[in-house]
Parts: sequence; structure tokens; C-alpha cells
Amino acid sequence: MCYTICMRKPSAARIEKLRKQRRKLLEEMGSLSLLVHGSLFERFSTCSRPHCACHQGERHGPRTYVAVTQDKVQRQHFIRKGQVGAIKRGIRQSHRLRELTRRITRINLELMRQDALREPEPP
Ligand SMILES: [Zn+2]
Repeated sequence: MCYTICMRKPSAARIEKLRKQRRKLLEEMGSLSLLVHGSLFERFSTCSRPHCACHQGERHGPRTYVAVTQDKVQRQHFIRKGQVGAIKRGIRQSHRLRELTRRITRINLELMRQDALREPEPP
């Protein structure tokens, strides 16, 4: 039993601290503009020129692609060389988004238990 702990009145300071953390995390969420939910891979390929060396085993590449699943269908998108870095950052941002979602969930569950989910109305 956690009767005494559960019945303890939440401190206003604790609630304010949680809301402040939540605002900060939400702000960070809003900054993830490169976000791409997918995974990177490299592949060698052959081209459409019939006499190209790629058809004798010297295939082109490696070229970088990002695999993205949308509506249960996975598609592979070629990434131009100059954009590989930005796409890598975007993938890291999608991992960060997942972490931020986990943290905000934890905060909101605690605020829910304290009946303090909503930000107070501005005066
Ligand atoms: Zn070729």
C-alpha cells in the first residue's frame, strides 16, 4: 500500500517544475525540422547504358538511400551526395523525437495523477 504517499498533496513547485520541463521538451520538438523517419543504407547499382563497365561487375556506388515506410509500404529514396549529411541528421532527429515523446509521456502521466495536465489559463 502506498496510502500515505498517494494521498500526499502534490506541491505546486513540483507541478511547475514538470510543466517547465514539458515546455522545454516541446520547444525542442518544434526545432526538429530535418526530421526523417527512416533508415539509411548503401547500395551498388548498374545503369541503363548497355556498354558501361557496371554490367561487367564494376557497379556504380556505393550510393546512399533512405528507406521509409509509409502506409505499410517501404520505399527506398536515393539521396544525392550533398544531402546525405542532412538526411543523417534528420534520422537522428527522428530518434530524438521518439525520446522526447517518451519523456513528455512520463511527465504527463505524473501531471495527470496530480490533476494538473493543462497549463494554467493566462490571466
Ligand atoms: Zn553503368
